[in-house]
Amino acid sequence: MDRSQGRKSRTETELDAVMTDDSAETAIGHRGLQLEETLSFEQGSPDRCGVDLPDPPKTGNRLGGLARKEAIGLPGLSEPQVVRHFTRLSQKNYGIDSGFYPLGSCTMKHNPRLNERMARLPGFADLHPLQPESTVQGALELIDTLAHWLKTLTGLPAVALSPAAGAHGELCGMMAIRAALEARGDSREVVLVPESAHGTNPATAAMCGYRVETIAADDGGRVDVAAFRERMGPDVAALMLTNPNTCGLFERDIIEIAEILHAGGGLFYCDGANFNAIVGRVRPADLGIDAMHINLHKTFSTPHGGGGPGAGPVAFSEALAPFVPLPYVVHDRDGYRLVEHADDASGTPFGRLKAFHGQMGMFTRALSYMMSHGADGLRQVAEDAVLNANYLLARLSPTVTPAFPGTCMHECLFDDRFLKGTGVSTLDFAKALIDEGFHPMTMYFPLVVHGALLMEPTETESKATLDLFVEAVESLAERARAGEVAYFQGAPRFTPRGRLDETAAARRPVLRWKEPESAEEAA
Ligand SMILES: *Cc1c(COP(=O)(O)O)cnc(C)c1O
Repeated sequence: MDRSQGRKSRTETELDAVMTDDSAETAIGHRGLQLEETLSFEQGSPDRCGVDLPDPPKTGNRLGGLARKEAIGLPGLSEPQVVRHFTRLSQKNYGIDSGFYPLGSCTMKHNPRLNERMARLPGFADLHPLQPESTVQGALELIDTLAHWLKTLTGLPAVALSPAAGAHGELCGMMAIRAALEARGDSREVVLVPESAHGTNPATAAMCGYRVETIAADDGGRVDVAAFRERMGPDVAALMLTNPNTCGLFERDIIEIAEILHAGGGLFYCDGANFNAIVGRVRPADLGIDAMHINLHKTFSTPHGGGGPGAGPVAFSEALAPFVPLPYVVHDRDGYRLVEHADDASGTPFGRLKAFHGQMGMFTRALSYMMSHGADGLRQVAEDAVLNANYLLARLSPTVTPAFPGTCMHECLFDDRFLKGTGVSTLDFAKALIDEGFHPMTMYFPLVVHGALLMEPTETESKATLDLFVEAVESLAERARAGEVAYFQGAPRFTPRGRLDETAAARRPVLRWKEPESAEEAA
């Protein structure tokens, strides 16, 4: 109690100082010990070098006239410069290892270090995808074992491991669906997608050549089954449903939905990005699903964010199993091998999604996570994730307006009614949270809710962390109600950069360093 009281008043004093004192802008951009970092090209000098190499022997023209004629434009840096440069850059990053990251729909949970240890074993880390199969039997066994776990957890008989992320998995699933329909001479053209879906769902369907139609949500944030039944027809190739959906709600009518879809000849794609809420509790096969991707980088704790590596395996029903893409691992008395060619396959694979077999490092981490938790542990993951989200929902409901009544699954959704009349927007509110030391929740998604704030705490956060977060949100809500609009619009204040122009960042991104053309530009 005392500690939090102290924390509050100190923060307030600092803020008042920053807000009223222009000298808070330092001369060279440093803030405390957070140093402003220029680009390596701006720090470097062509005549500096980080290593001492002996002069090459002067024995004639050993390069056969191929010696470089001019500098290639790399910055010359000393070793301490390089070390500081990359250390400082790393400190500008905010990640799950730095603090709470309640970004809804992303499952930002702790990545156990055991998994990192396993992924770095030379037998897994130092392989080349073109090595002879006889030298990578262990790695192939690992891939096969991972497939077995995924089949067991989903109840589905086939798995494609090569997709590189969730969206790539969707593409894989929809391509299999299209192949299955084509194989039966069926030219259905429409894919139905509920209003609350992640943007990748309609994008995937469109990429596969389908026309996308939206299915409305009911007042409770779930698919309107009557509207779906009404729309279902012989032109519908598939339904793409997320369960639990992006409002953090379980689609209770999913079995009925699957029956209507199948009776009408359609196939059922499930976006399994939210598998963390049901892993070990529900088998997607029992819900009538034909294809579902799983984000290993969400549910199975392999690191993600910042565009880093992911993995989006897809599990398939009996109906789609023959169309699973190449390559896949099989095993017999002689050991493990990759089926690489269509004429070697048992079914009629629709093709190939990647040059090689997929993300080996992610496979190793995910299997390590599964085996260290076991089936019971994975069930507890889902239960604790749902418990944590409901704790946040219950504690914040008096302050922040919940979008829908009742309990939630792994994430809780609020709307911006609590900000009505304050002049503070969802965006302002999220930016102010950064100054409190928390990564913001997901904003303005899903689109079905006005000014949405979607929070996913995951099971790896403690009650103490959630309580601090609640306290920060409550104190900000109080400031909003008190009319401190300028305070919100000026946030964040304690970051190396203040509020960015989001439109310019998206429309006119500066992605390449260019030599300044004039002295003025350089300054
Ligand atoms: C994360 C997510 C995706 C996309 O997954 P990526 O791995 O980022 O491509 C798709 N649908 C939902 C619901 C998601 O949360």
